[in-house]
Amino acid sequence: MNRTEGAASARGGAQGGRAPRRSPAAAPSERRFQGIPISPGVAIGPAYGSSEPGSAVTRQRIAAADIEAEGARLEAAIAQSRKQLAKLRARLAFLPEDSQAEIGPLIDAYLRMLGPSRLVRGAHRRIAETLVTAETAVNDEAEGLAGAILATPGDEVTGRRRRAEEVHEIARRIVRNLTRQPFQSFASLPEGAVLLAEQLRPADAALLDPARIAGVAAAEGGREGHTAVMVRALGLPAVLGAAGLTEAVRPGQLAIVDGTAGTVTLDPGAGSLAAARRALTAFARERGRLSKLRRLPAETQDGQPVELQANFELPRELPLIAHSGAAGIGLLRSEFLFMNRESLPDEDAQAEHYRSVVEAMGGDPVTIRVLDWGGEKEIEALAAAGVVPEYGDANPALGMRGIRLLLRQGELFETQLAAILRAAMAGPVRILLPMVTTLSEVRAAREVLERVVRRLRRRGERLPEPMPPLGIMIETPGAALAADALALETDFFAIGTNDLAMYTLAVDRSTAEVAPLYDPLHPAVLRLVQFATEAALRMRRPVSVCGEMAADPHFIPLLLGLGLRSFSMNAAAIPRVKQAIRALRADDCARFAHRIMERADPEQIRALIDGFPRVEA
Ligand code: PEP
Ligand code: MG
Repeated sequence: MNRTEGAASARGGAQGGRAPRRSPAAAPSERRFQGIPISPGVAIGPAYGSSEPGSAVTRQRIAAADIEAEGARLEAAIAQSRKQLAKLRARLAFLPEDSQAEIGPLIDAYLRMLGPSRLVRGAHRRIAETLVTAETAVNDEAEGLAGAILATPGDEVTGRRRRAEEVHEIARRIVRNLTRQPFQSFASLPEGAVLLAEQLRPADAALLDPARIAGVAAAEGGREGHTAVMVRALGLPAVLGAAGLTEAVRPGQLAIVDGTAGTVTLDPGAGSLAAARRALTAFARERGRLSKLRRLPAETQDGQPVELQANFELPRELPLIAHSGAAGIGLLRSEFLFMNRESLPDEDAQAEHYRSVVEAMGGDPVTIRVLDWGGEKEIEALAAAGVVPEYGDANPALGMRGIRLLLRQGELFETQLAAILRAAMAGPVRILLPMVTTLSEVRAAREVLERVVRRLRRRGERLPEPMPPLGIMIETPGAALAADALALETDFFAIGTNDLAMYTLAVDRSTAEVAPLYDPLHPAVLRLVQFATEAALRMRRPVSVCGEMAADPHFIPLLLGLGLRSFSMNAAAIPRVKQAIRALRADDCARFAHRIMERADPEQIRALIDGFPRVEA
């Protein structure tokens, strides 16, 4: 990709956070926001919000009978907007004082406009009098109001412009909540743009094209949420949880996203720009160095082989996976195939999709996880097909998620299993069940699988021999602690440390406010990983880690020491993890893990992990 000066990015680089440094040559207008480092690398480019440009709503009319329903839609979108802004207000306390002073009054102005304001009254009146949709009514009313503000004589012109822009901004927010669509405007962002959004859902992140977008930052989000997982998979430098960002940004303004330090800088001064450009060069050099590891074996110094596989969400990751030297796919998150579409993919479409991935892996195994709907993963097509309610449970992470939904929705499950079995004719495949908590779920899933096999045989389909192994995610404390019983009836385990940490610590993985409490090194999480691993090894069941923990080279000595020899991660992380493995001795790791598992204090554990001697491979 050709990038111009000031529109560039570098991916890869060191993991983990670093305190942001103020540049001595910071421009007076430079603003820096601290968020959570999500995906390493630096991006420099013009900033665009998710609604800029191209949030135009086509004019649409309604029937007189729909006035009331349209008014209710508008009220729901206003309530949603109010909720978002109230949340933002609550987070202001975490911002530097100058940002609080600037953003606080702005949020108050927005909240006033969402009360019984001229904008809201006018939009309701337009729905009733001109029979237009709520989106059209809000846009028309905002247009009229902003025009009137600009035409008011007497006031200073910059103040009038600012107030008019505030009206447009709140209208955009209401319309965004009305349409509830994934942001489709990414394709119209200029090449090399940096995307700065208030919130990026996993479905939105799946629409990002890393060949066009240099980097991403959002005010919401947590370290191990699926949005984070997705941007890492795409190798995009990214920061989440940078509160106040969207209120401060102007479309086209120059921005730096430093995904390693977790900072976003708007209007950078000469010093910050020079530092970011140096980081770009350093990352490119580092990436070149790491790519040389591609053909070297993942093996410890004392000759223990380790399997390194890639996690897969979207076909656009395949080149990155091929380049990483991954030995197959350890976790294919099939839910991304169901996102951003109006109807569900049928058996043929799914079989084609899985087959293309299996073929691309050229004989290396592909572990396909059946649909893990639920939690933060919204899938409009499932709601449209009536498979799930349009509005989720109050507590979606604890509700109808993963295998629970599939066992209720037999047709959905059977269709997917049939597609996977057909794709398994093209190469080695394993089937993975998400969100398992009890043995009865495994038994029920196996029965469904056997039914599907019989049905396909009756249909005359050719099927793989032997059948693909059926494994489970160990991602709930229930599954981890029942691992000995589960190992008796399953063919393999994939430990999902992302959800395991979330459910063990009762900390949402995608919420910025509680991000500091999310800690995979908490002894409770580690003991569950240890228990499940030992159960699998005793029963001679293959066991891997496919959560984000596997992608951090710092955690590898501990995981190896616990006996794990298979890891699956975002492709960009593989070379660095391989480098770490090649510098380690398995016997040192076993002693190290023993020391760690004697500790109960997460701080001490972190200190031990950070202090583990590392040798360059
Ligand atoms: C996990 O929970 O660790 C995992 C790998 O699954 P996901 O991130 O898709 O929930
Ligand atoms: Mg999970």
